Amino acid sequence: METVSFTQFSRRISQQGVMLRRTRLDTLQVNLGKLCNQTCTHCHVNAGPGRSEQMSLETIDHVLDFLGDSTAATLDITGGAPELNPNFRYLVEEAVKLGKRVIVRSNLTVIFEQGQGYLPGFFRENKVEVIASLPCYTAETVDAQRGDGVFERSIQALKKLNEQGYGDDPELVLNLVYNPPGMSLPGDQSKLEEDYKKALQADHGIVFNHLFTLTNMPIARFAEYLAREGETDAYMCRLAEAFNPDTLELVMCTGLASVDWEGYVYDCDFNQMLRMRIGGARPLTIKDATDADLIDRRVQVMDHCYGCTAGPGSSCTGALR
Ligand code: SF4
Ligand code: SF4
Repeated sequence: METVSFTQFSRRISQQGVMLRRTRLDTLQVNLGKLCNQTCTHCHVNAGPGRSEQMSLETIDHVLDFLGDSTAATLDITGGAPELNPNFRYLVEEAVKLGKRVIVRSNLTVIFEQGQGYLPGFFRENKVEVIASLPCYTAETVDAQRGDGVFERSIQALKKLNEQGYGDDPELVLNLVYNPPGMSLPGDQSKLEEDYKKALQADHGIVFNHLFTLTNMPIARFAEYLAREGETDAYMCRLAEAFNPDTLELVMCTGLASVDWEGYVYDCDFNQMLRMRIGGARPLTIKDATDADLIDRRVQVMDHCYGCTAGPGSSCTGALR
């Protein structure tokens, strides 16, 4: 078998004379737990219906206390399917009262789970920005990645959001997320956005604001897939070959921090999945954290960071360049 190798990410960036630092805190991203109604092949959270980890009300109150004193203007709520956390509504409403912009990362199909039909109206009332996964505009590709019937239910959910004014009213932002199948890297974001807009409008009458392209991160379920296929090294080499130093000043961790369901704090959602807690053996929790603990701090990097810096770069809000 051919042996493949690449330079460690930390070495690569020090060759560029760069050390990643969080220079400001714009966004606090909070993972409410691993419970999800789907089991997608590329999921970097290993979420699914069998998972029981959920952020408690006590920890949610610590998040809100932190936000009340923080410069972070945006609360970005993710999961699993964060809507399935029993304290989800409370968190959104209280964050809105604090004057924060609230983003919810929704898998769309959760709207059809028992007791979740209120969501489109609730999102509108709170002017929640919805970021929704839709890895293609064809049923075949979406269902292969996300499960049988997911495409059709996603389309129905998008229609419900459009009925509320999402994608049309400037205050009701609906963004979609694309991630490529298998080991491919995403194509040009603006071209793909154009294709999505044409296809979703023509086939289903759906409108949305922007498409974010994401690189599949070599962690959790996608890492297991790569290992099963014997493609881990090949994928890492592909990412490393596409390394783009111009993305370094824009990667998410320079302005974001991430909190897990237990309240531990990380440099980003991906470091969270790898349990790379800020503070190491004396981990920082959101209960004790202040902006000063997070701003002007060095970020912990590892080789998965190549996923954020390949080609045009990748982040929770799409391409960086
Ligand atoms: S990718 Fe999103 S929708 Fe799919 S299993 Fe993971 S958390 Fe759930
Ligand atoms: S994975 Fe991306 S966001 Fe996270 S620390 Fe690495 S470069 Fe920063």
